[in-house]
Amino acid sequence: MSEFPDSARPPRRTTPVTGLRHQLAELRGPDHQPRPLDARALAALAANPGCDRRALLDGAGVDKARLADALGSPAAFGQSQFALARGNVFEARVKADGGSQLLRLVHAHVDGSAIEPAPEYVRAPDLSAIGPEGRTARTALALREAVESPGTWTFLDHPMLALDVAGSPAFLEPDAVVVHPDGSWTVVEIKSFPMIDGAADAAKVGAAARQAAVYVLALEEVAARLPDTGVKVRDRVVLVCPKDFSNLPAASAVDVRKQLSVTRRQLRRLTRIESIAAQLPPGTVLDPDRPAAELTAAVESVPATYAPECLAACELAFHCRDRSRQEGAVTSLGRALRAELGGLTTVDAVLAAAHGETGDPEDPTVAALRRAAALRAEALDLAEPSKGAAL
Ligand code: SF4
Repeated sequence: MSEFPDSARPPRRTTPVTGLRHQLAELRGPDHQPRPLDARALAALAANPGCDRRALLDGAGVDKARLADALGSPAAFGQSQFALARGNVFEARVKADGGSQLLRLVHAHVDGSAIEPAPEYVRAPDLSAIGPEGRTARTALALREAVESPGTWTFLDHPMLALDVAGSPAFLEPDAVVVHPDGSWTVVEIKSFPMIDGAADAAKVGAAARQAAVYVLALEEVAARLPDTGVKVRDRVVLVCPKDFSNLPAASAVDVRKQLSVTRRQLRRLTRIESIAAQLPPGTVLDPDRPAAELTAAVESVPATYAPECLAACELAFHCRDRSRQEGAVTSLGRALRAELGGLTTVDAVLAAAHGETGDPEDPTVAALRRAAALRAEALDLAEPSKGAAL
């Protein structure tokens, strides 16, 4: 008999997985374990939902950093070892004493009317289990038990949650989840960037909020499997950062309703991996150990939608940017410009339309381009007659 009740098990898949899992394992290469998706990657994935290449690589668990290296375009982002170590020290400090300090911050910032988290009202269950599926089931069981023990606070340190993404399960590990005395759940994110005078860098807070929203979505899936409890996942998360460059923690409540609706919509729109994998030429392998020429052809066989935003979010950005530039694709100049140009998808097509060689003059985009080209020529003529004439 299973150690866990049905409601504590990770969600069952509704798609025929055996064939797909086998195909994804072949794609990844037989010697490689799948690289798990984390919430940071999911938030980035949701930021570029039209990219089949990223969806497939993440779904198959390919190590994109190694793949980028093998393609000759190594990734250039990620946290330094020093920053990681500093973040780990700060997180351990915040969670010391069975999470009592962290619970006091949650109490103060989002649930001040509840009983104080005095030690006799605090539980911190052991969440250890074998493998991500086992840890997910253990977390779900701990959440259920916490909901069934009202009037106490429960601190879950590094719980494991599962979220179905484009037909493939992603296992996610928030820094902490707190169950309040009323049974509701709050996600806690611990970051190493400073909060100065109660405010942190807006861009970093935004990225943390997008990441936390992914955890809230995964918790909502757990809550949906406990319909008899009426449990609520709070849409205000607690962000904990070092206070004014010190090692002391400061916290703030962050409303993630907007990030939740955006991420929910983007994840729903992600092309399902089965349909992407079905389009691949037979024998396609994305194993970073294969020769560069073979790998390049395999990567190019999966459509990509490069945009400058990829540079901050995807390990393959330099490779895709080079290809996009070689093809003269206007997306390499930004999504906003791409949207303005309608059906003109390459720089050559834009120039031809602007110079009157192609395009319908009644088309507003073509008319605007010709007007811009005329103004440019006029300006160059005025500023430098010989150059303007040459153009
Ligand atoms: S860098 Fe390439 S693979 Fe990654 S999201 Fe952008 S287009 Fe897709």
